[in-house]
Amino acid sequence: MIDGKRTVDDTLFRETPDGPVLLGTRCDDCGGHTFPAQSGCPRCTGSSMTEVPLSPAGTLWSWTVQGFTPKPPYRGGSAYEPYGVGYVHLPEQLIVETRLVESDPARLAIGMPVRMVLVPFRDDEHGPVHTFAFERATDD
Ligand SMILES: [Zn+2]
Repeated sequence: MIDGKRTVDDTLFRETPDGPVLLGTRCDDCGGHTFPAQSGCPRCTGSSMTEVPLSPAGTLWSWTVQGFTPKPPYRGGSAYEPYGVGYVHLPEQLIVETRLVESDPARLAIGMPVRMVLVPFRDDEHGPVHTFAFERATDD
């Protein structure tokens, strides 16, 4: 459980006083970050990685709208609705592939501020299972 919600994988998250954030790793040798957490650094091949909570806010680096049901192993349920997919640039100089809460292309723009939220992803026999997504961090 993260923030009182069941998730697809609790190891992706860390709870903080300000809410749930993504859990990544920082390389002790070069300072590079990864998400999800990894045991080795893809940048310098170092093997000393420290788990760190990542910033919940970033900017949209690139995006698209998934307008049709993805091929298996997509498990998002049968009631398909288009959703945004994006790459979010975090202050840790890391780009995270993510779902976007916004699916209207007119309301998505490269460089816009976004923040991490937990969203229902699919249902199982116990109810909704959540994953992370990023939503607009501005209300305009
Ligand atoms: Zn490294």
